Amino acid sequence: MPHASDIVTCDGPDSPHAFDIVPLKPRNGSLDAQCPVCRGHGEWNVEIDLVSFRCKRMICDPCLGAGWIETGSDPVGFPDIEMSPDGHPHWVVAYVPRKDVGEKNVSDGNLLAP
Ligand SMILES: [Zn+2]
Repeated sequence: MPHASDIVTCDGPDSPHAFDIVPLKPRNGSLDAQCPVCRGHGEWNVEIDLVSFRCKRMICDPCLGAGWIETGSDPVGFPDIEMSPDGHPHWVVAYVPRKDVGEKNVSDGNLLAP
């Protein structure tokens, strides 16, 4: 016998159930403001079962899932790959001035041409 379910889909962060059971992200001390898109959640439901609360979620692009963003003139950090001294690539957080960052999503690569 199938379990009862009431699955709803969400078109985006403005959908009624987009943030059901999605916790607010704790603020990382270096970030300034709640992300205007996910309002501090960092992700939202694209599909949720209102009976079992099983859900599929989507990571928020503008804040890369952090829930918080940098504002003003503070440098903006983003994931980057660098060569370590022993010759292996590794992940680092690279910081660039706010003025060099476009309005597009960081994850799409939004650095402005110099
Ligand atoms: Zn966000």
